[in-house]
Amino acid sequence: MKEKNDFVDFSDTKVAFAHKSDAALKKAIFLFKIMSKKWLVDLLGTIGGKAVSWGIPFTGKIVKSTIYSQFVGGETLVECQDSIDLLERNRILTVLDYGAEGKSSEEDLDQAAENFKNAVTFAASNDSVPVVVIKVSALAKNEILEKVQLKHPLDENEAALFDRVSGRIDAICSHATKLGVKIFIDAEESWIQDTIDQLTVDMMMKYNQQQVFVYNTFQLYRHDRYAFLESSYDHAERHGYFLGAKLVRGAYMEKERERAERLKYPSPIHKTKQACDADYQRAIKFCVDRYERLASCAATHNTASCLYQAQLIGERNLPRNHPHLNFCQLYGMGDNLTFNLADSGYNVAKYVVFGEVKEVLPYLIRRAEENTAVKGEFTREYQLLVEELERRRVEG
Ligand SMILES: Cc1cc2nc3c(=O)[nH]c(=O)nc-3n(C[C@H](O)[C@H](O)[C@H](O)COP(=O)(O)OP(=O)(O)OC[C@H]3O[C@@H](n4cnc5c(N)ncnc54)[C@H](O)[C@@H]3O)c2cc1C
Repeated sequence: MKEKNDFVDFSDTKVAFAHKSDAALKKAIFLFKIMSKKWLVDLLGTIGGKAVSWGIPFTGKIVKSTIYSQFVGGETLVECQDSIDLLERNRILTVLDYGAEGKSSEEDLDQAAENFKNAVTFAASNDSVPVVVIKVSALAKNEILEKVQLKHPLDENEAALFDRVSGRIDAICSHATKLGVKIFIDAEESWIQDTIDQLTVDMMMKYNQQQVFVYNTFQLYRHDRYAFLESSYDHAERHGYFLGAKLVRGAYMEKERERAERLKYPSPIHKTKQACDADYQRAIKFCVDRYERLASCAATHNTASCLYQAQLIGERNLPRNHPHLNFCQLYGMGDNLTFNLADSGYNVAKYVVFGEVKEVLPYLIRRAEENTAVKGEFTREYQLLVEELERRRVEG
């Protein structure tokens, strides 16, 4: 894919990394080099989490000064402020993402809901933080989500617990709508996603009457999701609300395939990367073509996908900063996309994750795995960082 074109230049490493000192650049290169070692990332995945939670000396500190500092904004909202300010100076918005996963006691789930609400309040006081992310699995016991999806009858206690889940989500969305903050609801594993979709549709029907406050997430690595995007749009049109659509490829491919094989049902994931990419591009076009009634966000580090959305916006003569046409990358990744899109006048944001080291470890492990080199090659992030260091050395 040609990166230089009339719309945006993704190969401009000078713009992409202007915010990084030489030392910061070298540190990032070192980190991406480490993450290219599969055995090290596997080690982090197997014993890293245990070492941190058992409080083995220095493990928390090592994680915090390396991979955590690359991918996480801070332990608390206040600690994220420097990252938010840096992004704002570069015309980049922040999407706040409380990274805790896998909690299950009612007390922890209530606490998570409070944390999401605090993030909303914090976002409302920051002009460059228009969105907060929620993960339904951080607000519910997974078994309940799964049981609802399977349409198994819930006993009285379970029904009460599920009511509490929808209550938590509604309380966050209501708080956000009152303060003018938007909510992205993340997509998760297919065996709980129907329940998440249903809860999200309920929220969109309630809060997206006049404008888009709540966004659902569409994982285009699933072969049924393009059709689901179409039917979601039809549903929104029939019921008179705006659709919010965050488009992702999907983060749980191995887990999905492994479970499908183990339990002997057809995998929900596309058979090839090409098929997944083709659906992602179709989904971008579907959303841009309906931008008046549908607000979308291309949440991706794929250059071709970002370029395609920029190209469609240009060809249709739409304002680059139309509030319904957005891009988003994760903090610590895809800076060549984010900073160059912002420099060319598009609406672009970073997902800034926050939380304590032990809370965000599953997220960090996913990021490390994503950046592990296939076939021994270094990742694109690494190559771009090295290119920029070389450019600075040559140009002085
Ligand atoms: C801002 C942001 C928000 C996100 N939110 C979510 C979320 O809510 N839920 C979620 O699940 N993920 C989410 N993700 C992660 C995302 O789904 C991807 O895992 C990640 O971004 C890599 O995909 P990519 O579009 O950047 O492109 P690429 O790097 O081009 O694509 C890699 C992806 O393609 C897919 N893929 C790879 N090989 C195959 C194959 N053989 N067959 C079929 N598909 C294949 C996989 O999804 C893989 O992750 C988010 C990502 C971003 C940037």
